[in-house]
This record gives sequence, C-alpha cells and structure tokens, in this order.
Amino acid sequence: MISQNIQISLPILKEKEVSLYIKREDLLHPFISGNKFRKLKYNLQEAKSQNKECLLTFGGAYSNHILATAAAGKEYGFKTVGVIRGEELGIDLQKTFSQNPTLKQAHQFGMEFLFVSRAAYQQKNDVTFLTLLLTKYPNTYILPEGGTNSLAIKGCEEILSEKDTEFTHVCCAMGTGGTVTGIINSSAAKQNILVFPSLKGNWIVDEINSLKPNKQNWQVIADYHFGGYGKVSEDLITFINQFKNQTNILLDPIYTGKMLFGILELIKNNHFKKGSKILAIHTGGLQGIAGMNLLLKQKNKTIINE
Ligand SMILES: *Cc1c(COP(=O)(O)O)cnc(C)c1O
Repeated sequence: MISQNIQISLPILKEKEVSLYIKREDLLHPFISGNKFRKLKYNLQEAKSQNKECLLTFGGAYSNHILATAAAGKEYGFKTVGVIRGEELGIDLQKTFSQNPTLKQAHQFGMEFLFVSRAAYQQKNDVTFLTLLLTKYPNTYILPEGGTNSLAIKGCEEILSEKDTEFTHVCCAMGTGGTVTGIINSSAAKQNILVFPSLKGNWIVDEINSLKPNKQNWQVIADYHFGGYGKVSEDLITFINQFKNQTNILLDPIYTGKMLFGILELIKNNHFKKGSKILAIHTGGLQGIAGMNLLLKQKNKTIINE
C-alpha cells in the first residue's frame, strides 16, 4: 500500500525555491492511522500465526497506539487489553470516558483496560511484570509501548516507495523511533532523513541507534518539541489552524504539527538549498485532536479547528 504525496503550495516555498510534499499516511485508516497501521501489520500476522487470541499493549491516556490496537483487534478478531498509565483513571470509568475520547473509542472497540500507577507503568518492559500480565491474560501477544519492535520497523520500511528516492530530504516525527528507523532503512543513501522528536531529551540519538538503522543518513532536529511530549503552545495551535486553512491538511498537535512547524522554520532560516525537494510524512494521529481540544477548552485556550 502506497500513500499519495501531495504537493504543498505556500509563498515561502516559492520565495526560497524549495518544494514540499506531504505523504498522506494519515488517510490509510480512520482509526489505525498512519504509522500505527504500518507498525501493527506484521505484528498482527505474527500474532495470528502464533494462534494468539489477545493483543496487550501499553500507553498513555491519549495514545494513538492504544486506539490503533483497539481498532485492529476489532477488525482482525483479537481481544485487546490496554495497560494505561494513571491508576486514577480507573476509579470512575464513565467520568474518564466522558473526558477522554481516545479511551472512550478504544472501549467501544472492545478494549479492556488495566489502569496502573506511574511506578508500575515504569516496569512495562520488565520480564517479571510481563510474566504476571501473561498469567492474568493467557494466550496474549504483547506489543511494547508505542508498538515499536523489529516487525514494526519492517512495516515502516514500506512507507517510502522507490519513486520517493527523488526527494532530497525526508522528514518524520519521532516518539519511540520505530517509524523513522523503518524510513531510514528503506531510504536511499544520498537522501537526508530529518527526525523531529516530539519529546525533550538528549537520549534521542542513542534511542535511534539502539534500533540499528542500516544507514547514517539521518539527523535529529531537536528544537521543535514545544516543551516536551504532549505539550503545546498557542503558537503551535495557531500554526496548525493556519496550515489547515492554507493547505486543507489537518495536522495533529503531538507529532505532525510540531514537525511541519519545524520544517517551515528551517525553510525560512535557509536550512535547505535552493532546489531541495522535501517529503514530510504525515504519520496520522488525528484522533488525538478531540482530547487535546477538551483540555484546551478547560483552560480557555484556542482550539484546533477540525
Ligand atoms: C506514534 C506516532 C509517531 C511516532 O512514531 P514512533 O515510531 O513511536 O517514533 C509519529 N506520529 C504519529 C502521528 C504517531 O501517532
């Protein structure tokens, strides 16, 4: 499956003589969107071949991966369990669902939740904790937080197609790094892969290296996390609304909004040579807008226009 590349036209692109395209991975599926579809594909096949009945995974309360797993379970015939960070969310489920469209939707897809404390959640990769979970939920296929494992990377190697080698730069937002590792693996050595982390931290480069990308043609652009994971500013929200008005493409506030903000800043600051051809991957994540808007409304802030 190959997503379409849409050319963006904005005055700044003309002025700086660069071209910008967006790969519409966000259109792959309404709930299993963008890179989460790619990351699940081979894992679902593996779970089926192991005759597993259930998928279990980990995430925060607004996680795109949690919702994607819930939707995939419903579509492909698995029970699903979400281990969610924040035990307070389990106290009054109806209240939680009324305030959290992600968990409400995942619940509607049949996902069962295990709400755990932040301390317990830290053990998400510990063998003893995972063994305990398998006792509670037997015959279960465990996906790590964010869905990143070697099969997920293999799926993400299918995001770029051979025709995409015409781009000088490929830009991708990063959480756990699985997606961009797949992109690096299937890129051409002459291309520059720009990684836009949605998190703050100096461990990002090590994290990507730990996933063993097959080339060194990548660079981390660390200046556009907007204060850290899940943090947004008025400027970012205004940018997302403006971008939607200008291009008719909706961006999410956690990943793709920050990346595109960064790309356009880099263009303004002459980071790209004249004639550069930039491809930005729209990894999806649009389901998170409703939850973000509820939080913004509570604080009387500008919301994202869908
Ligand atoms: C999860 C996600 C990412 C990050 O993917 P990783 O493989 O965890 O780096 C990027 N964009 C969107 C929209 C996502 O949902």
